[in-house]
Amino acid sequence: MGIKKVGLNRNVRPQTLAEKIFFLDFMKGLKTTIKHLFRKVITVDFPYEVVEPTPRFRGVHGLRNVDGTEKDDFDAWVKKLKIKPPEKGETRCIACKFCQAACPVPDIFEIKAKKLDVPKDHPHYGLKVLDVFNMDLGKCMFCGLCTLACPTICIIHTDIYDLSTYSRRGWVLDKEKLSKIADDFIARRGSEKYDEKSEWPDYQRLWNEADLARAKAWENNPPKLGPNYADQT
Ligand code: SF4
Ligand code: SF4
Repeated sequence: MGIKKVGLNRNVRPQTLAEKIFFLDFMKGLKTTIKHLFRKVITVDFPYEVVEPTPRFRGVHGLRNVDGTEKDDFDAWVKKLKIKPPEKGETRCIACKFCQAACPVPDIFEIKAKKLDVPKDHPHYGLKVLDVFNMDLGKCMFCGLCTLACPTICIIHTDIYDLSTYSRRGWVLDKEKLSKIADDFIARRGSEKYDEKSEWPDYQRLWNEADLARAKAWENNPPKLGPNYADQT
């Protein structure tokens, strides 16, 4: 059965004979294309070209290591969570799971600490170290809530936005990979993002009043340990 002609579409003017012979519609389109050829290009040819996002960009996460720029209350948090005091170059993560508690998709995280296997007379007896920290970024919406909840400014966003991978497993990053990502980011752009106390420099705050209000609220009502914290104590 062929196509049946039911009438003319009155909203569209049929091409005139001259338009058909001289391809006038085609020429009009070509004129627009040629005009744009000489305009400034505002897109990039990814992956051959890349852009550098602003320091506040919320890209792939990283886990920061101890580097001497921790906040004043870092030692207090380490003590409170019974974590072995980390040396320089070891992770800042104290396995408090605040990041997981703040995350709208808690399944993203797998965080476990383990008790050190040392004799009773060892100074680190009864203390723990971070054992597992996995993040499945395939489920992440890059909202940044985890980074705001972290008391040690360990979990951060970096400027990495290329998440392409050949399998879903490629989106699961372990603590070694996350530490490497953070080290690389801090080496490249740390001075742009953080001051010496790992706080946002004032000129980079978007919502200064909101930041101050939140700091005040947290001061009066400090966060409680994460919902799954009991399983590791
Ligand atoms: S950025 Fe948002 S969704 Fe992603 S891990 Fe952090 S809190 Fe969860
Ligand atoms: S909130 Fe920070 S310190 Fe606590 S578990 Fe998450 S990354 Fe580690």
